[in-house]
Amino acid sequence: MDGRTRKPGPDPGVLLRVSEHFLLRRHYEDCRKYALQAQQINPNFTGVTEILAVADVLLAAKPRTSTTTLPDWYEIMQVDRFSQNAYQIRQKFYYLYGILNPSNNKFPFADEAFDTLRDAWFVLSNPVKKVEYDDLLKKLLDNDENLNGKRDDFAFWTVCPYCYYVYEYPRVYLECCLRCPNEKCSKAFTCVEIDRPSVEVIKEGRYICTGFLPVGLQNGNWNPYVPLSNEQVNANVNVNGSDDAGKFVEMMMMMMMMMMMMMMMMTVVLMVLRSRVINRLM
Ligand SMILES: [Zn+2]
Repeated sequence: MDGRTRKPGPDPGVLLRVSEHFLLRRHYEDCRKYALQAQQINPNFTGVTEILAVADVLLAAKPRTSTTTLPDWYEIMQVDRFSQNAYQIRQKFYYLYGILNPSNNKFPFADEAFDTLRDAWFVLSNPVKKVEYDDLLKKLLDNDENLNGKRDDFAFWTVCPYCYYVYEYPRVYLECCLRCPNEKCSKAFTCVEIDRPSVEVIKEGRYICTGFLPVGLQNGNWNPYVPLSNEQVNANVNVNGSDDAGKFVEMMMMMMMMMMMMMMMMTVVLMVLRSRVINRLM
């Protein structure tokens, strides 16, 4: 002892066990959180790098949205999206290959993460497959943006000025005075539109703000973002889908045109018949 009384900090070994506990239950975010805490206390603590690699790969392999199941191989490989740097991709692969190899990595699901990594490598290391995959991913990302655009037409985001919870509401409530759904707050406030938070921010409940400390930040599972449910939005996006409406109008127009043409033809036939009958009578 050097005479100074140091407050005993959390033991990285305990933090790592907590991290593993969450990994076993596939709570990758919580697993990462405790592993990162252990890493902060002792950057070289045995096992931290290994468990983080497993959690990172499996978290990246989770489907990004409810509509697509295409894995993001770039995120799994931890390189920039659409990266053309084959050298960097190879370096990253060999690095993760060493860490995730189940013969060294004894954490739960290391084998699954290892297989996922090899799948990513299988696509990204093959120029033909990579181009095909890039095209598909680009299309899906455009589609997501499109959906978000339609979502913005239907809904908007606002923030409670008393508890700082962030809500998504149908657009009909814009500038309306609503009661805050947060039970601890329940104050009435006017819904003013704010920028749409990014998907990651909403999912992880990331809330960075200088000047005040939002209540409840101590709790690890606290998330102040309250989006509308997917069913609610999908129902509206599909009902208002202008494509379907456009097709319906087009079909109706075609049918009207065909009916008019048939009527004209029948008129002509009738006129011809009438003139023949008249001729015969004459
Ligand atoms: Zn509130």
